[in-house]
Amino acid sequence: MATFHLQIVTPDGGFYDGEAEKLIVRTIDGDVCILPKHSPYVTALGTGTTSVVIDGKRRRAACAGGMLAVMKNNVRLVATTFEWAEDIDVDRAQRAKDRAEQLIAKATDQRELELAQARLKRALTRIQVTQI
Ligand code: ATP
Repeated sequence: MATFHLQIVTPDGGFYDGEAEKLIVRTIDGDVCILPKHSPYVTALGTGTTSVVIDGKRRRAACAGGMLAVMKNNVRLVATTFEWAEDIDVDRAQRAKDRAEQLIAKATDQRELELAQARLKRALTRIQVTQI
């Protein structure tokens, strides 16, 4: 099976550094699928579910913000936050969801509303990733 080199890093450290067969990640323009020998590509990441195929097995993760760069069969995903599905604390995400909904309900300006909506999206993504 053809592969590409994938690095996944966040400010907290590295999450993966090795070969992968496929990466699907949410960008600001929607989901993209990266396969071996993808053409050069750089984009900003959105908040959503990520899926990585390694040795024929699919791993899922929640990813929020950052950048994706594809160059010469090297793929670098620099995420603001990234959690593998099995590392997600669902109760924490549920509490974050509840808090975000309360913040949305009492937001007094556009900035507060957008921040609360971003929190809600992160929490919903984390919950969703554990349910797939
Ligand atoms: P919370 O209010 O629960 O901290 P948040 O959306 O504000 O949620 P972030 O700022 O996105 O949290 O993330 C802070 C750090 O905590 C990051 O390292 C992120 O990976 C981790 N993290 C956040 N929520 C969870 C979760 N439910 N399970 C595991 N790790 C989490």
